[in-house]
Amino acid sequence: MFVDKAIIKIKAGNGGDGAVSFHREKYVAAGGPDGGDGGRGGNIVFVPDDGMNTLSDFRYQRKFSAAHGGNGAANRCFGKSGEDCVIRVPRGTLLYDNETGRLMADMSADEPFIAAKGGRGGWGNNHFATPTRQVPRFAKPGVPGEERELRLELKLLADVGLVGFPNVGKSTLISVVSEAKPEIANYHFTTITPVLGVVRPAPGVSFVMADIPGVIEGASDGVGLGHDFLRHVERCRLLVHVVDVAGSEGRDPLMDFDTINEELEKFNPELASRPMLVAGNKCDLATQEQLDAFAQAMEQRGYTYFPLMAPIAHGTDELVKKCGEMLSKLPPVRQFEPEPEVLPSADALRDRSVNITNRDGVFMVEAAWLLQVMRGVRFDEPEGLQYFERVMQSAGVIEALEKAGIQEGDTVSIYDFEFEFVK
Ligand code: GDP
Ligand code: MG
Repeated sequence: MFVDKAIIKIKAGNGGDGAVSFHREKYVAAGGPDGGDGGRGGNIVFVPDDGMNTLSDFRYQRKFSAAHGGNGAANRCFGKSGEDCVIRVPRGTLLYDNETGRLMADMSADEPFIAAKGGRGGWGNNHFATPTRQVPRFAKPGVPGEERELRLELKLLADVGLVGFPNVGKSTLISVVSEAKPEIANYHFTTITPVLGVVRPAPGVSFVMADIPGVIEGASDGVGLGHDFLRHVERCRLLVHVVDVAGSEGRDPLMDFDTINEELEKFNPELASRPMLVAGNKCDLATQEQLDAFAQAMEQRGYTYFPLMAPIAHGTDELVKKCGEMLSKLPPVRQFEPEPEVLPSADALRDRSVNITNRDGVFMVEAAWLLQVMRGVRFDEPEGLQYFERVMQSAGVIEALEKAGIQEGDTVSIYDFEFEFVK
């Protein structure tokens, strides 16, 4: 079975805890605090893999987690960073946040994508030493790693997509013009996973061609398989429509041609206007009248037409040369823009509860909702800080801090964000 959708759960590593420790040495009394910081948790990282053409691996493994950071230790020893968890996906996989439906990334380019960030390590007690607080007997716990459910959807990336009825010779064509070795057989439904091949029409020129499973196999039989697969031609810059001009299975070539075009249009009207070349295959089995009639029909409709005998590569050079020429003038493969994360308005976060612990003038604030909000805040930008201030006000965090007895100049420590309290 060809799998092009999957839902998985990912969990980045938690940061390690900071250590509470005091320097010890023979004959030295009351050493200072030397507890080291926790290490950061591992990220969940996606990378595109050109060796993969389906999401079938995710049918069996649906949960992924990265390693936690190590705890800090005495002597200012940092905890070890947790190892990242790297998930390989076929190029062209779209990653959605399954909860909000937000498109997070299009894995079309080479850059890895961090889909869940590991938590930062907590500070060791040596961070909290001040002239007035020489013996801090506390440290910070690590920040939990991000966790989410993702929906993966594959939209293959290819320059040229082959479309056509089953058994017309699509797999044969890709096997003679590229290094791809798809299954070729004289029965329907042979192609069950998409096959991509690199075609090199001239030195220094190359493009990717896709033989897509069931594109029309299902649609033509009305079993509803086909439309799902058409998603994989959506991004192709050029379509090559392969037709059995001999009508060797008893159908009329021109009717085949129209049926497929209608299917394409029904699926996505944009596809109907996608540049298309026509390849008339199985010329060896066709009569001269059949050949002439089809060529004439294509000419009348304004299509560029190539008669082929795919198994002996007759006519294929001309076809791929034309593909290369057209691609050089067509826009690049479409990539989808990730959608920005929408933060809840400060007003929507009214009166939330938080947990506050006063550790010797360091007020530690914790709440799951707050951590979630903070993950979306850009603390390095003024707007981000202003938003965060508004949230602290409307959610009642400031009020709660005051109730807990905070004084001007005390430290507020919220996960890995710290500031001095001013009224
Ligand atoms: P697909 O279903 O469109 O991928 O078609 P295949 O490439 O698997 O081909 C189906 C059958 O047609 C196979 O038995 C091929 O050997 C045969 N075939 C493909 N091209 C030609 C051709 O030009 N002439 C003849 N006679 N047979 C062909
Ligand atoms: Mg095939």
